[in-house]
Amino acid sequence: MSPNSSSVTRRDFVRATAASLIALSTGRPRSNSHAAAPDERPPIRGVVMVPETLTLENWPGRAKKAGLNTIVLHHPESPRALLEFVKSDQGQAFLAQCATAQINVEFDFHAMRDLVPRELFASDPSLFRMDEAGKRSPMRNFCVHSPTALQTAAENAVKYAESLPPTTASYYFWSDGCAAWCRCPRCRELSDSDQLLIVENALVAALRKVQPEAQVAHLACHTSMPAPQMIKPAPGVFLQYAPVRRRYDVPYSQQTDREQIDSLWYLEQNLKVFPEKTAQVLEYWLDVTRFPPGTGPLPWNRDRFQADLKTYTSLGIRHFKSFANGIDANYVTRHGEPTFLAEYGRGLQNLVR
Ligand SMILES: [Zn+2]
Repeated sequence: MSPNSSSVTRRDFVRATAASLIALSTGRPRSNSHAAAPDERPPIRGVVMVPETLTLENWPGRAKKAGLNTIVLHHPESPRALLEFVKSDQGQAFLAQCATAQINVEFDFHAMRDLVPRELFASDPSLFRMDEAGKRSPMRNFCVHSPTALQTAAENAVKYAESLPPTTASYYFWSDGCAAWCRCPRCRELSDSDQLLIVENALVAALRKVQPEAQVAHLACHTSMPAPQMIKPAPGVFLQYAPVRRRYDVPYSQQTDREQIDSLWYLEQNLKVFPEKTAQVLEYWLDVTRFPPGTGPLPWNRDRFQADLKTYTSLGIRHFKSFANGIDANYVTRHGEPTFLAEYGRGLQNLVR
């Protein structure tokens, strides 16, 4: 990396990190050092949502009442919105509410364009992804055979971990848009899932130097839905399985054909690579925006949800989250209280462990 590009990267982070650390220093203390070992962690019962969803008053209290134990803040494009949120008065109040309700807080976002800042393309295109036409592009992800790109990503992941500290030592640095990775002569023999796992292995190694219990998610989604074939997960890398394109009109148990998009077959293949005990399912059962018209009411189906839980637990899954996009103040105005939250939480609490 050139001295110039390196200093740009650091300067950006120093600015973002310092601001949010100041904000966080007035909130609750970091509890990462007390995080349970991955295999011993209590089953996750979580929701994932963008900060805008928090217009619905006291989400942490609602989550606790529903029997949930984790709220994940998400941004579809960039972590900068999350950094801004945790610095804000609203963000600080939210974190305090979570601490009171003993709700774990995590962060997830499509991270690669921020882990390897796109400005570096001008000085060193070799860090970046080669597309199918053989051209380097700053659009999405990067070249996993560039040692500089991997090192930059790892350094910046450590900085984001400091800026957005989860209470669980679990990190979710997702690929950009769950989209394609590099097609350069060295990368092209590896699938997108394998390339992503190379990155995750590098990130967990860097994070564990400063936080030995750190864990990093391998997000199986879209292009990374097929199980990795060539690369093995390093200790601390766990499966997060997000079948966004599955059908919701029938239980998942009826979607087992490998030719079906995001079918259960993909989970079974991934569980041959990743330990089932630490694997998480990231579902869309509660995602109002996932179902037309996108503003509700949520087509909640208790029987389908229970059937899906049975399917997942039969494969050894213990940790569950659902996106809860769109369950905000406007939703309650339009459709009334989201009573399905209690059924979701109760279903997860009643799982046979
Ligand atoms: Zn490459």
